[in-house]
Amino acid sequence: MNKKALIVGAGLSGATIARTLADNGFKVTVWEKENEVGGAIADYKKDDYFVQKHGPHLFHTSSESAYSFLSRFTEWFDYRHTVRADVDGKYIPVPFNFASLEALYPEEKAREIAARLTETYGADAAVSISELRENPDPDIKEFAEFVYKTVFEYYSFKQWGLDMGAIDPAVFKRVPVRTGYRDGYFADKYQAMPTLGFSAIIENMLSDKNIIVEKGVDALTRLKVDGNKLLLDEKEVDFPVIYTGCPDELLGGKYGWLPYRTLRFDFEEKKTANYQPFGVINYTIGEKFTRISEYKKFTVKESKAPTSVIVREYPQAFERGSELSPYYPMPTAEAKAVYAKYKEYADKIKNLYFSGRLGGYVYVNMDRAVDNALALAKTLIG
Ligand code: UDP
Repeated sequence: MNKKALIVGAGLSGATIARTLADNGFKVTVWEKENEVGGAIADYKKDDYFVQKHGPHLFHTSSESAYSFLSRFTEWFDYRHTVRADVDGKYIPVPFNFASLEALYPEEKAREIAARLTETYGADAAVSISELRENPDPDIKEFAEFVYKTVFEYYSFKQWGLDMGAIDPAVFKRVPVRTGYRDGYFADKYQAMPTLGFSAIIENMLSDKNIIVEKGVDALTRLKVDGNKLLLDEKEVDFPVIYTGCPDELLGGKYGWLPYRTLRFDFEEKKTANYQPFGVINYTIGEKFTRISEYKKFTVKESKAPTSVIVREYPQAFERGSELSPYYPMPTAEAKAVYAKYKEYADKIKNLYFSGRLGGYVYVNMDRAVDNALALAKTLIG
């Protein structure tokens, strides 16, 4: 049988679908707008570590399927990511834990709050700041407001350009408050980084006899939607097309532009082997950027490089036609409602599928992107 598919976008989602279809006998063509594959996880080697072109990406998962799929294409080294927030020059653990509490509260008060939190939520629990702020206990409420002001309010405002009330509370579950001393940004079973970087994973996925990758192709010049038909070079397609870019662009912006958040990166090569004591430091109460990442701290087990590349992230709204790339769907009810309209329309178009962070308009980590892509591939294989 002559099964074929076209994938638009050679990022993690597109490459996962491409390889899974190819493994199942499909002849797959992948179009990539850029002149390299990898999408948002693209990186390049600098001395003995990797610089990630689109901001810090850390792999962590509790999904056996995502981990085992990716492990076909890379070896890993164990890496447990720890993050600090710069609070008036003091580095406190984020997620906020009892060590953060002790660093910022008088001893006696810290002990009291820790006891109250443990009593309420149990030992070593992860509680979202939204939930904490709703606790009627005045001591917990006061503590919640303190953590909110110290860690979330300004950082989230910089990141999203919105007050916290307008943001989907699910976003804050990513970075909970911990009722114990457990340190580390993630709590997943597998926390590891690829020894040859992320671009190599994508390149390995795409090197298969059933896959052809065409770079520098702008899909919008060749794909068109006409009513409920998807046209390729003006002819209706009779094979699946998986589109991992912004749906509104393919669908002519008919329901208005979908809002995305982007980042402006300020990269700097520091003339020092060691710039900061942690891979990522969040600036939660000052500065215009959200965080500084020092790549050698998390992209290689140990670096001997004499200099160090760091990046500062400046979030902003994504403007159509700008040279920046969209990264985050906006986590708001209004944005999701606009996406739902596009999705409803797209569902009526034969052979068109959206996938990925941009295409699916979902704020997912790498592992979920892989699992979602595997699930879509499975339905296409039938
Ligand atoms: N966040 C915050 N302060 C922090 C870290 C995170 O307010 O110090 C909030 C912010 O709204 C952010 C969200 O939690 O967008 C998720 O953070 P995460 O580090 O997971 O974001 P990502 O790495 O995906 O940009």
